[in-house]
Amino acid sequence: MATTDSGPAPNFIRHIVEEDLKHGKNDGRVVTRFPPEPNGYLHIGHAKSICLNFGLAADFHGVCNFRFDDTNPSKEEMEYVESIMADVRWLGFDWGDRLFFASDYFEQLYQYGLHLIKTGHAYVCDLTAEQVRSFRGTLTEPGQDSPDRGRSIEENLDLFQRMRAGEFPDGARTLRAKIDMASPNLNMRDPVLYRIKHESHHRTGDAWCIYPMYDYAHPLSDALEGITHSICTMEYEDHRVLYDWAIDHCPVPFRPHQYEFARLNLGYTVMSKRKLLQLVNEGHVSGWDDPRMPTLAGMRRRGYTPEAIRTFCDRIGVGKRENLVDLALLEFCVREDLNFRAPRVMGVLKPLKVVLVNYPEDQVEELEAINNPEDPGQGTRPVPFSRELYIERDDFMEEPPKKFYRLAPGREVRLRYAYFIKCEEVVKDPVTGEVAELRCTYDPGTRGGYAPDGRQVKATLHWVSASQAVPAEVRLYDRLFTQPVPGEAHGGDFKADLNPASLTVLTSCRLEPSLAQAAPGSFYQFERQGYFCADIKDSAPGVPVFNRTVTLRDAWAKLQQARKR
Ligand code: ATP
Ligand code: MG
Repeated sequence: MATTDSGPAPNFIRHIVEEDLKHGKNDGRVVTRFPPEPNGYLHIGHAKSICLNFGLAADFHGVCNFRFDDTNPSKEEMEYVESIMADVRWLGFDWGDRLFFASDYFEQLYQYGLHLIKTGHAYVCDLTAEQVRSFRGTLTEPGQDSPDRGRSIEENLDLFQRMRAGEFPDGARTLRAKIDMASPNLNMRDPVLYRIKHESHHRTGDAWCIYPMYDYAHPLSDALEGITHSICTMEYEDHRVLYDWAIDHCPVPFRPHQYEFARLNLGYTVMSKRKLLQLVNEGHVSGWDDPRMPTLAGMRRRGYTPEAIRTFCDRIGVGKRENLVDLALLEFCVREDLNFRAPRVMGVLKPLKVVLVNYPEDQVEELEAINNPEDPGQGTRPVPFSRELYIERDDFMEEPPKKFYRLAPGREVRLRYAYFIKCEEVVKDPVTGEVAELRCTYDPGTRGGYAPDGRQVKATLHWVSASQAVPAEVRLYDRLFTQPVPGEAHGGDFKADLNPASLTVLTSCRLEPSLAQAAPGSFYQFERQGYFCADIKDSAPGVPVFNRTVTLRDAWAKLQQARKR
């Protein structure tokens, strides 16, 4: 796996750029681009590409163009354009005035099409999509020429112009490159360059009814923008000859080069936009920004920080070999970032009432709690303490097994920043038999959580004072899928591996009063429970809703230790 404990991992594209600069290639210019298709929200895989392209530009005094690859009107929408821009900005990258749309080049690309026809390198073909496919041949058999391959230049020009003018219905004709129907590379067997689609485009409206294919539009857009390093994922490796063919046969102002790297695959995650769209449309998640989604919008809502995601992208490195990155590494990066930044607070997720029978009624005292032990500069805050408290239901057991050190009948524990308390009596619900309340005593001599006589306790619990606590909803998340490669054991049916327990909503949580006014999007460590973030959509001052970003259990560190052993 291309991962290391800390620090950035190898990045072979960076070495290519360094070499190019050393040899004075492209007059020392570095121009990259990030070319999303606006047909879905960005995901963590796109973040790898964004960090790579914008990162190289930043590190080598270059520029990175932000280009929407909007050549297919059927699946593209303005909503996606806007979300993609917001996500790139959120991730921390600035494209300045370098925002481009492939659709801005439609006229130029059309002119290149005419040029290809005039030079004998393209022809109009009347075969249906199905026929084109069956004429293409296979990996072991050559394809067959289209009956239209020999059309005269004049006839091709006439038909292509009439395709543009809207004279033919969808699918009636295509413009194809005239390359080699026997090429061992299927992409070179007279690929389609243009298709007819009488559809409105989100930017060009009804100006066009023919649309260029990706393999044609992409290299030419790169050339028009003077891209020096056109970086894409490995599945385009076999398309590179076609990329170069388009550059070689059109009178372009610049010669870009394509480089391929391995896409990011993340365990327990699906990353294809088609699959993510299905999850959204079929209601398996609440939307593209559901905190369980691997989208940047989902991760933002979950409480992942842009810094953590960028660090993750550095640590996974850039190589050519496909691999599956452990989700634990991403969570490790999130935890590491939040550890220094998130203030500590106390919040009880599943409350159990505790009454301190020897504590004065109506008394409330303020105890001092540390905001962040990792960063003394964050200071302290007062937390109220009184006779009635809540502790975590899981922190009490009536009949504790051997290794349970927390509260139990007759046992003493420490309340964080407060006092030692001892459980004297268990009150049960007369109907259900469930533990309803604990009656405890506190030791007034242990204020601050330490006994002057040196007496030790085995557990420290978090708590909140009942009458000052803020009721809140808290949402806990687990992996969206139960298998590292969703669908692997079900012939690709990834939904068969959906985790039915990926979301737990807790509605009776009690938080310390400092959280009442938590700003949407602000993050905290709830002591012993993990990192949490006030939901940017549903949380409001006075009625907080928190998402658990990540637990405190560091699965990644454990894994690293196990590997070293
Ligand atoms: P998907 O397969 O998820 O639908 P895509 O490749 O079709 O993604 P684009 O909008 O074309 O989506 O992607 C924009 C850029 O992001 C491309 O350069 C693409 O190579 C890159 N990219 C997409 N997915 C990943 C990934 N998992 N890892 C790294 N880069 C990716
Ligand atoms: Mg793509």
